[in-house]
Amino acid sequence: MASRLLVRSALRALTRGPGTARVPLAARSMSAGGIPTDEEQATGLERKIMKALEKGKDPYSMLKPPQYAGTKEDPHIVPSINKKRIVGCICEEDNTSVIWFWLHEGEPQRCPSCGAHYKLVPHELPH
Ligand SMILES: [Zn+2]
Repeated sequence: MASRLLVRSALRALTRGPGTARVPLAARSMSAGGIPTDEEQATGLERKIMKALEKGKDPYSMLKPPQYAGTKEDPHIVPSINKKRIVGCICEEDNTSVIWFWLHEGEPQRCPSCGAHYKLVPHELPH
């Protein structure tokens, strides 16, 4: 039944003469390339973020942070727009409590509980 309907509608479409009215294509159809991409239509802050992501930067820390060993040679990098930032350390994977402490700009500091190293790095927002 459905196949007969398909055949009939296909035949009707094929037998239409040039004088019959056609449905105009949408001006912004995908086949015409009319729908702008995110990159083409983004403005303002969204555009700045997209441009930064293209360059491999992550200005608003939207991506998963890189992993650090937490040793003196490879401290956890903590970006901050201020001279100090409060940091929460989950010292061991299964801990249910978080150790909070202030991290200041300059030399790497250690977590008072587990001794992992943290280093504050200046960070500038793109706007
Ligand atoms: Zn810790």
